[in-house]
Amino acid sequence: MLNATFEPLQIVSWQRALQLLFQGKVEVIEESEKEVRTVRLTIRVPAVLRLLDYVPLKKKKHVVRFSRTNVFIRDKHKCQYCGNTFQKNHLTLDHVTPVVQGGDKAWENIVTACKPCNQRKGGRTPQQAKMALIRKATRPHWLPTTSISFSVSKTPDRWKIYLKLDTGYSDSEDDNSD
Ligand SMILES: [Zn+2]
Repeated sequence: MLNATFEPLQIVSWQRALQLLFQGKVEVIEESEKEVRTVRLTIRVPAVLRLLDYVPLKKKKHVVRFSRTNVFIRDKHKCQYCGNTFQKNHLTLDHVTPVVQGGDKAWENIVTACKPCNQRKGGRTPQQAKMALIRKATRPHWLPTTSISFSVSKTPDRWKIYLKLDTGYSDSEDDNSD
């Protein structure tokens, strides 16, 4: 089930999905091949639902643990300098402002970088190295790819594009809410 803004919210059973549908709370974005029959009609079981009313995520905001893996997930395994996507073992964490220049190990100062980019940048800031960040480093409020895909053994193909969706962890969105 997705939020009104298409952010993945949670996994619901097909029974719950139909219940929400009949209550007019959701719309069906994608159907599965499975069908259920009632006395009067046959319905395709929804595969992806979207809530019609936005559920503010702030209420259940949790602190995303700062870790190497979570930084990679936030940055979608993309080097924040060259923009290429890499496997985990080819990625490093880069201090945007280097430690020697007073940069700390925080969400706002750590980005994913491929090994060559990290080496090239060295102990310099992006400005000094003339290597622009493709995106400003921010603190994520949630990481849907982990929370959702870990709760099912295999992520259905239909869900993948939604799970990869930009999750809006930018500062601006935070400032605008409420
Ligand atoms: Zn790179």
